[in-house]
Amino acid sequence: MTDLERRQDRSPVPSGWDYAPAPEARDIVTLQERYGLFIGGELVDPKSGEYFPTLDPSTEEPLAEVAQAGKEDVDLAVRAARDAFENGWSDVSPPERAKYLFRIARILQERSREFAVLESLNGGKPIKESRDVDVPLSAAHFFYYAGWADKLEYAFPNRRPKPVGVAGQIIPWNFPLLMLSWKIAPALAAGNTVVLKPAETTPLSALLFADVLRQAELPPGVVNIVTGDGRAGAELVKHEGVDKIAFTGSTEVGKAIQRELAGTGKKLTLELGGKAANIIFDDAALDQAVEGIVNGIYFNQGHVCCAGSRLLVQESIYEPVIEKLKQRLTTLRLGDPLDKNTDVGAINSREQLEKIKELVASGEAEGAEIYQPPCRLPEKGYWFVPTVFTNVAQSYRIAQEEIFGPVLSVLTFRTPDEAVEKANNTPYGLSAGVWTEKGSRILSMAQKLKAGVIWANTYNRFDPTSPFGGYKESGFGREGGLHGLEPYLDFDESDARGG
Ligand code: NDP
Repeated sequence: MTDLERRQDRSPVPSGWDYAPAPEARDIVTLQERYGLFIGGELVDPKSGEYFPTLDPSTEEPLAEVAQAGKEDVDLAVRAARDAFENGWSDVSPPERAKYLFRIARILQERSREFAVLESLNGGKPIKESRDVDVPLSAAHFFYYAGWADKLEYAFPNRRPKPVGVAGQIIPWNFPLLMLSWKIAPALAAGNTVVLKPAETTPLSALLFADVLRQAELPPGVVNIVTGDGRAGAELVKHEGVDKIAFTGSTEVGKAIQRELAGTGKKLTLELGGKAANIIFDDAALDQAVEGIVNGIYFNQGHVCCAGSRLLVQESIYEPVIEKLKQRLTTLRLGDPLDKNTDVGAINSREQLEKIKELVASGEAEGAEIYQPPCRLPEKGYWFVPTVFTNVAQSYRIAQEEIFGPVLSVLTFRTPDEAVEKANNTPYGLSAGVWTEKGSRILSMAQKLKAGVIWANTYNRFDPTSPFGGYKESGFGREGGLHGLEPYLDFDESDARGG
């Protein structure tokens, strides 16, 4: 036995291990005190004259002031997009269009650290997620759609695809840069111009993206960015100069947009909420499944539309799964989003924190059993301890409503049919997870689950080549893959067949 082994042998099992702080340097990001609106290739003062502060949700410190776009501002942005579409962009040859997209993708890669730090600062998500997921996937979307820009005729043979015109795009706060990329990359690849409205609480990465567009020398007006609250989004939706609306956000606002657009002839895609079931069968590899459960609900503090927020466990393995899960929860590190060791960051806003608290209180009041690991929350900022509810009935609000926070509701089942019935028993249909070693069971479950995306023995995997979208109240239309181009194209099929 060596000296070292002898020493290790005698040492007591350490309790209260702590990681040394490993903060990512913040100074790679240079913030302006105040930002205008990005219209016609320039940051301009809003005609509304209004600005509002945007915060770091982990400290509540203001980061910058951002413009509130009014009706006149949205109108200017739509006119700039129309002008760019009709006087230049629609004549740009497809290979040239592709070049711009490739450039944007490469610049995103070159500036990835800056984007990752800014995304964590403004949104509260752990840097390891913005660094390893949000930013690389955003670049991947631009690379992917750059590849399609000059192959649309092959992608849609005999259908004569042509751009729709001006796309109005409204995105949420949970993946600000990634949602921007999901929207802008296919729109440009298909030859459209864009007016994008980022979420009120997370506008900064979109404004940094405006600088990427300048660097890429994208012609002015092809992409315009109007910041502001929901009023700016509503103005964009009803503007007559917009040909297509793409929206990601809550089901409530999605329904309002659908009502507003009914009868206008504008194209619409909606990517709304979810209440996904993550289903664990008794033959699953349990340790891997537990990692999948944790990733499914605590990734990005549960601010994920496809989060595995309902865990369905086969009754025979309920106890070991819950025990392993609780044990794993005690090892999650909650804290400074810029620390490279952080697993769970800050809740995005005070409003969202209040919503989570309200739904958690309803779970306790309705009779579910709550578990939260010992965890010290920072004094400032918006935080919520990773939470598991057991003893949950299907009718409880925490089993039906989207919490959009780090809160898991556990239910059990005995047979595959019961699992399907429970999984489908919500108004949503965005995603699901199945954990089993049987391939045939995966295929049979995938056919019966009413969800747009079904992961097998993994969770929250995203790829630009793969379409994403929902059924029922989770919306319609697909983003990603070839399907993601269709909403940005009109087809002239009769003409194509005729000649
Ligand atoms: P919203 O649906 O309100 O926000 C999504 C986007 O729509 C934001 O840019 C928002 O602007 C904008 N918006 C708000 N009102 C209108 C309107 N009338 N017309 C057009 N655009 C509008 O979601 P919230 O941020 O309010 O979050 C509420 C809940 O929605 C969350 O708790 C969560 O459950 C769910 N949600 C689901 C998401 C998903 O990906 N499925 C994403 C975000 C939220 P602004 O930010 O200024 O309000």
